Amino acid sequence: MQIIRDKKELPKGYNLVPTMGYLHSGHLSLIKQAKLHGKTLVSIFVNPTQFGKNEDFSTYPRDEERDIKLLEQAGIDALYLPKIADIYPDGFSTSISIGSIGQELCGKSRPTHFDGVALIVTKLLMQTAAKKAFFGEKDFQQLFIIRKIVAELDLPTEIFGVPTMREGDGLAMSSRNSYLSSKERKIAPKLYQILNEIKTGMDIEIAKEKLLSYGFSRIDYIEIRNAKNLKKAAINDSDAIILTAAWLGKTRLIDNL
Ligand code: AMP
Repeated sequence: MQIIRDKKELPKGYNLVPTMGYLHSGHLSLIKQAKLHGKTLVSIFVNPTQFGKNEDFSTYPRDEERDIKLLEQAGIDALYLPKIADIYPDGFSTSISIGSIGQELCGKSRPTHFDGVALIVTKLLMQTAAKKAFFGEKDFQQLFIIRKIVAELDLPTEIFGVPTMREGDGLAMSSRNSYLSSKERKIAPKLYQILNEIKTGMDIEIAKEKLLSYGFSRIDYIEIRNAKNLKKAAINDSDAIILTAAWLGKTRLIDNL
């Protein structure tokens, strides 16, 4: 596995799996898909522009040594570990504004998040000239926005969505799950359970009350949207997707079904 720490040394035209590191089986499932399509490059970069002022940029979990071992075992061709100056050189001032979809769902509580995601993903796609890039359906709004940018900016990369990997009890895998106390970790799978109960008819307001009674501290949203266009939808619509974000203590969990 080639380790690249300088953008000038990047190979071009590989399949790209962008991550923020602290890898888990969800990331590895993206990598498995990417490898089926040819040479695979993984990037690890905790992108400051997608974190809000009071968010967890400085405490986001990082373990480069462990990630390198996991990626060697996974058999990828190259790992890109950019320095901040490779992505945001001094004086950098370009921004991408993705418009109103970035202010909905997760964007309501994280109003600058998706513009930051749009910027880093566009930069990584351009720097690597990726043929194909792989993203998790766990971050469904992110995947939707990335597909939109690629279409609207005519970026020459094909985007693939990969299903959510879950723990045995249903909790969606996430680097942020490492923030959970053992007590919170026991409550966390209730989020996915509730999505399943909404799917089979539970009212959303009751679902929110139930989550609070289980120990969730705040529900940012539970909404039903159309998976194709992210417009509001009803549970019986053919492309309905239920999306949620909720706080368990200091940890914000997201999921969808
Ligand atoms: P992150 O490192 O959290 O930014 O995630 C990097 C990529 O992995 C994104 O495309 C995520 O959507 C994807 N991902 C994160 N968690 C999962 C999961 N549990 N299952 C599948 N993909 C995931």
